[in-house]
Amino acid sequence: MYDFDMIVIGSGPSGRRAAVQSAKIGKSVLVVEKGRRVGGVSVHTGTIPSKTLRETVLNLSGWRERGFYGRGYRVKQDIAAADLMIRLHKTLDHEVEVLEHQFSRNGVKTARGEARFLDPHTIEITSEAGEVHSVTAAHVLIACGTRPFRPEYVPFNGMTVFDSDEIVDLPRLPRSLAVIGAGVIGVEYATIFSALDVAVTLIEPRATFLDFIDKELIEEFVHELRDRNVGLRLGSAVTSIELGPDERPVCKLADGRTVQSDMLLFAAGRVGATDRLNLGAAGLSVDHRGRVTVEPKTLQTAVPHIYAAGDVIGFPSLASTSMEQGRLAACHAFGLEPPPPPEFFPYGIYAVPEISTVGMSEEEVRRREIPYECGIARFRETSRGHIMGLNNGMMKMLFSTKSRRLLGVHIVGEGATELIHIGQAVLNLKGTIDYFIENTFNYPTLAEAYKIAGLDAWNRMPKE
Ligand SMILES: Cc1cc2nc3c(=O)[nH]c(=O)nc-3n(C[C@H](O)[C@H](O)[C@H](O)COP(=O)(O)OP(=O)(O)OC[C@H]3O[C@@H](n4cnc5c(N)ncnc54)[C@H](O)[C@@H]3O)c2cc1C
Repeated sequence: MYDFDMIVIGSGPSGRRAAVQSAKIGKSVLVVEKGRRVGGVSVHTGTIPSKTLRETVLNLSGWRERGFYGRGYRVKQDIAAADLMIRLHKTLDHEVEVLEHQFSRNGVKTARGEARFLDPHTIEITSEAGEVHSVTAAHVLIACGTRPFRPEYVPFNGMTVFDSDEIVDLPRLPRSLAVIGAGVIGVEYATIFSALDVAVTLIEPRATFLDFIDKELIEEFVHELRDRNVGLRLGSAVTSIELGPDERPVCKLADGRTVQSDMLLFAAGRVGATDRLNLGAAGLSVDHRGRVTVEPKTLQTAVPHIYAAGDVIGFPSLASTSMEQGRLAACHAFGLEPPPPPEFFPYGIYAVPEISTVGMSEEEVRRREIPYECGIARFRETSRGHIMGLNNGMMKMLFSTKSRRLLGVHIVGEGATELIHIGQAVLNLKGTIDYFIENTFNYPTLAEAYKIAGLDAWNRMPKE
């Protein structure tokens, strides 16, 4: 009756995972992608480019060795934008190749063009050359993601003023950079450029930032940024941005201060890429940020055979969670009932230094009035930390003093986004402080911090 069992709009993490899952259970799938190549924001402008850039910067700048050899140490003198691009393009080509192969070996069909609804089961596809055709499907997944929010007052020019999709194609490295928006993306790029010794100023209208992260961790992070001379203008709304000589941006702030820089990155939010989907024809609408509302357990929209997943449905807007959402949507569409996802997923912020967190922050534990104790380990207390020359980095764990259960793990420092998975496993398996006290960890590792933090908490916990 329909051309396909499932049409997926967008080939980012949620679309990709939904398409492959549908194909694995024998369903016919078409992925429609308007970009030149498959992969989505994740592969082309978001996750992978920013993480590749970070890795390149840390390598070429010798950042990880500076604890030993001093702040002046560099692996490569005179790092240029081209040095960053070489590795970026290699990595992206490889990612796309893997993805194309995954589609082809699973029999997932792809169409290049922009999709829009004609009715709840019919999608019109317009190619870049303007050719139009339509296809039908029993189920549709909206996996179109987001695009950067670009307010009128920001003079984007692709030369000195960029949004977070454009910054990966930087024509040259700036001597100074202003970053507007201290969300995850802004903080990541601000600290990556600062690791290149670019003078960075991070501007945020609110007095605090990354509020979903444990406060003590953010204090530690801020301390390190200040130590590196990253300018923090918190509680400072931007009132205007003008371009001076050589197109150099000048930001005027509400508190009367001015930030002049060589380049500007505007990273204050993203909006759902839904405006051209003609959702009305499918009986759907969006909120003020272009996002689609879904039933959280099934990922169904108000029209039951149309699903939505990934950044277009809002929080947590991660590649990691988007993939899971795509898989769940496909399973639900075809009558499979996977077990509900575990309660806790990790959050990774690939700033320099990394931040990663899983479970409750100390603020949340207090809000819920759970009797608790916390343990702290500093990476410089571990032998691996000495070997690596680490001066910074900490792990904080929270435990219930009633049940002894682990409540949350919060890490800032080298390897945080990998280390967090030990805490995630214990948390989701409902483990207690005893796991950390009784188990042997490889030595010397940074994971030893789990034992140190566990013992630190145990020392303070009431004994029976
Ligand atoms: C700078 C940056 C860094 C990030 N870092 C991380 C990180 O470290 N870890 C992490 O987990 N997440 C990270 N994210 C978030 C992550 O990239 C997103 O959560 C993820 O890409 C969302 O996936 P998605 O499935 O919603 O699709 P997206 O990746 O957003 O892709 C959507 C695709 O749909 C296509 N599309 C849109 N409209 C149409 C249409 N009408 N027709 C056809 N195709 C269409 C687009 O061209 C695009 O290719 C980062 C994001 C950014 C911007």
